[in-house]
Amino acid sequence: MPEQAVLAIGGNLGDRQKTIKSAIKHIKALEGVEVIKKSPLFESFAATAEGIDEKAPRYLNGVIQIETVLKPGVLLTKLREIETSHGRVRLERWGSRTLDIDIITYGNLIKDGKRLTLPHPRAYERAFVVVPWAAMDPSAKLLGHGSVAALAEDLKSQVWEV
Ligand code: ATP
Ligand code: CA
Ligand code: CA
Repeated sequence: MPEQAVLAIGGNLGDRQKTIKSAIKHIKALEGVEVIKKSPLFESFAATAEGIDEKAPRYLNGVIQIETVLKPGVLLTKLREIETSHGRVRLERWGSRTLDIDIITYGNLIKDGKRLTLPHPRAYERAFVVVPWAAMDPSAKLLGHGSVAALAEDLKSQVWEV
């Protein structure tokens, strides 16, 4: 049975919109993955290991809803390949990047593994995840945190549509 999953896609280096569009195209092209819905894109200041950095290149982020027969670990591997092919390099934690793709939820799966934690443990507190998600799906729920629209309402001042 295919599962519904929500992916967060973003970056703050290069042509951000072009990269996100291309990433979605590559996700669509994955065997066993259908893209069901896409959110609008939102801009925000960079959150670094030291906190919000208004001088760092700003992020552009969106979310998509997919349906997939891929197991979550396989999906993560494929998404990391797409990041790499779009110039992602991993230097410091939460450093600037061309492309980041996170799995926010995968069905109702709860998992706390070495490689994969589901739902994504920081999604609920991130404006750049919950605001686009609520825009895409006003009735969405995040396991353990309830209404995504309610989470978005509290955080919406931290992001702006571009
Ligand atoms: P954050 O996880 O806070 O958004 P990040 O996206 O910048 O930070 P990365 O360097 O992209 O962090 O990924 C670090 C590790 O997170 C990856 O190696 C991956 O195995 C792990 N990971 C755990 N849970 C998830 C998830 N739900 N989606 C994507 N990666 C995950
Ligand atoms: Ca991330
Ligand atoms: Ca990531």
